[in-house]
Amino acid sequence: MDSYPQYVTAHGFATPQVRKLEIRNVNSNPIRADIAELDRDVADCRRCPRLVHWREQAATEKRAAFRDQEYWGRAVPSFGPANARILVVGLAPAAHGANRTGRMFTGDRSGDWLYRALWLAGLANQPESTSIDDGLDLLATRITSVVRCAPPDNKPTTDERDRCLDYFRRELTMLKEARVIVCLGSYAWENTARELGIRPRPRFAHGLEHQAGPLTLLCSYHPSQRNTFTGLLTEDMLAAIFRRAAELATKPA
Ligand code: SF4
Repeated sequence: MDSYPQYVTAHGFATPQVRKLEIRNVNSNPIRADIAELDRDVADCRRCPRLVHWREQAATEKRAAFRDQEYWGRAVPSFGPANARILVVGLAPAAHGANRTGRMFTGDRSGDWLYRALWLAGLANQPESTSIDDGLDLLATRITSVVRCAPPDNKPTTDERDRCLDYFRRELTMLKEARVIVCLGSYAWENTARELGIRPRPRFAHGLEHQAGPLTLLCSYHPSQRNTFTGLLTEDMLAAIFRRAAELATKPA
């Protein structure tokens, strides 16, 4: 696999917007001290007893297909450069996906869709994310979730969500170059909108755009199997969301 930007040069699909991002961000994946500290705090967090138990139980019992693998089994830090212009927000890690691999959206079907869409939009150097040492690099994009531990049935309690939103809040203040927040699903949209003080809050819809100061919030259906199996979300629809995100990220302030 060619590295980015060699790939886009060779294949010539990068949009002018992505080329601008490339000039600003490629070959720079800075680890800033404040972000590194936040990522460490997240990885060490044990504030929610129910979720700590659940994530560790999944890591011990394992799914049969991953029996030989060592699970991460901890809270999952965000992934992507500190100078990201695009922040992608999901719900929470999957018990046998990110809770296994230690990287957001990595190791499950939702992640397969997400990273392929990022790659198609020129925001990732490869279409797959399989493990933390697979060589994946994101361009101007950081991926996070409202809740950073895998919850049973994908349903964190209100208290768990509120505790975890502390990290989201901290992260938002650190991502000073962010211009676009892509909300994957209504849970991400509602919590992001509340954190940003958006009132009244428009109803979630795929493709919804909402301006909040310098930030544009862009909504997409979550690439969950429920949505992709039923055709509610197609690969083209998701790729279009990220092409639009790249366009918005380079819009003059
Ligand atoms: S959900 Fe968030 S606050 Fe709760 S233990 Fe995990 S990282 Fe900590």
